Amino acid sequence: GYDDEQECDYLFKAVMIGDSAVGKSNLLSRFSRNEFRVDSKPTIGVEFAYRDVRVGDKVIKAQIWDTAGQERFRAITSSYYRGALGALVVYDISRRATFDNVDKWLDELRGFSSPDMVIVLVGNKSDVGRQLREVSEEEGRSLAEIQGLSFMETSARDNVNVDSAFLEMIAKIHLRNT
Ligand code: GDP
Ligand code: MG
Repeated sequence: GYDDEQECDYLFKAVMIGDSAVGKSNLLSRFSRNEFRVDSKPTIGVEFAYRDVRVGDKVIKAQIWDTAGQERFRAITSSYYRGALGALVVYDISRRATFDNVDKWLDELRGFSSPDMVIVLVGNKSDVGRQLREVSEEEGRSLAEIQGLSFMETSARDNVNVDSAFLEMIAKIHLRNT
């Protein structure tokens, strides 16, 4: 019926990538349903989520894909990336190894996607205390600058900057593709 079917002007696909347990699924559930899970439950079944976003006078349906526990390099197939106009590359600020792997994720991403894909680098778990932090905000920002990406630190747990990270990506996709 016409009441329950939201009209949209554009449908954009974007993907989440990054090491296992950095918080990809929780960022997506925050953004799409405002939910957070304390227990680490690997993504199974649900492979994408939607949220409608208004940009100017247009309604954009963002279709965001999440890895279904395939976070090993080259485990993700080309169909995951196919048609994606944006990506959130996520690391965990309390685990340096996840930051060190960002370059590999960017290589893989660029191997599959178009050069004008909008990429946002996301340092998640900004809520952890100073003692647990292993990657400074400056390091994240400078990597993003070198690689020509947008950058944001987020907390899926405390709901800090989550909408901003997704909305930044979606607004830039809109600028580049319409
Ligand atoms: P994924 O494997 O990248 O999808 O990561 P998950 O979303 O499954 O999260 C892995 C673990 O990190 C879970 O125990 C989450 O509760 C936890 N987590 C996710 N985001 C945050 C965050 O912003 N802060 C903190 N402290 N923990 C988080
Ligand atoms: Mg997951």
